Amino acid sequence: LVSREHHAERSTVHVGGVPIGPGTMTLIAGPCAVETPEQTLEAALMAQSAGATLLRGGAFKPRTSPYAFQGLGEEGLRILADVRAETGMPIVTEVVDARDVELVARYADMLQIGTRNTQNFALLQAVGEAGKPVMIKRGMSGTIEEWLMSAEYVAQRGNLDVVLCERGIRTFEKATRNTLDISAVPVAQRLSHLPVIVDPSHSGGHRDLVLPLTRAAIAIGADGVIIDVHPHPETALCDGPQALVREDLAELTELMRALPPVV
Ligand code: PEP
Repeated sequence: LVSREHHAERSTVHVGGVPIGPGTMTLIAGPCAVETPEQTLEAALMAQSAGATLLRGGAFKPRTSPYAFQGLGEEGLRILADVRAETGMPIVTEVVDARDVELVARYADMLQIGTRNTQNFALLQAVGEAGKPVMIKRGMSGTIEEWLMSAEYVAQRGNLDVVLCERGIRTFEKATRNTLDISAVPVAQRLSHLPVIVDPSHSGGHRDLVLPLTRAAIAIGADGVIIDVHPHPETALCDGPQALVREDLAELTELMRALPPVV
């Protein structure tokens, strides 16, 4: 269902009216985790000022350590909904457990499947039935074929509004958090009709890599990027070192303004 053999033309997925697909370079940005109403609104306004049309923010956080901040849960979703009402930005947020899909779908405009859940097949099937667009991160140790099969699980349940997100894979290299497999973008676009975006924040893992990797995503023809921003990353409860700060926004804005208009 997700292959170009089934559907030759590349698809566009609309998230609360915002297109992601051929000819777009949709900027999704916001905090890694929703922490407070003030932090989320500030991050959203920073993102919007740089050209973001969709707001990201995790209310359910899949953390490596069970002692790390796990997200605010439904309270976080309520905060996101309030910020959407204030800014007009549709929400992209992660769901980590099949039992929470209905709850998260009540608030979200797009459901995010994180790298750790890319092969959680029960979760994929549940989001396939939730009636909302879905973004699937590539598994950190997953092949492109496995990633496409994850999308197939969602599509098989009747939901073809799926966006693929390359977020870096595990390699021997330690200088970056993950190795951004930029070649996965054209490969996935050749094999599948689904839009393909890049996460330069979770791949690089360092603030100073985010804009160079964004340039790479634009150059290779990605359909969008998803970027962490935070008003005060030194106090962030999750992934502060990779969040863009106010000083980075001028360059991000310039990158977004230089893009050709969406037709
Ligand atoms: C995220 O985008 O918040 C996230 C946890 O990303 P990943 O699943 O790619 O690690």
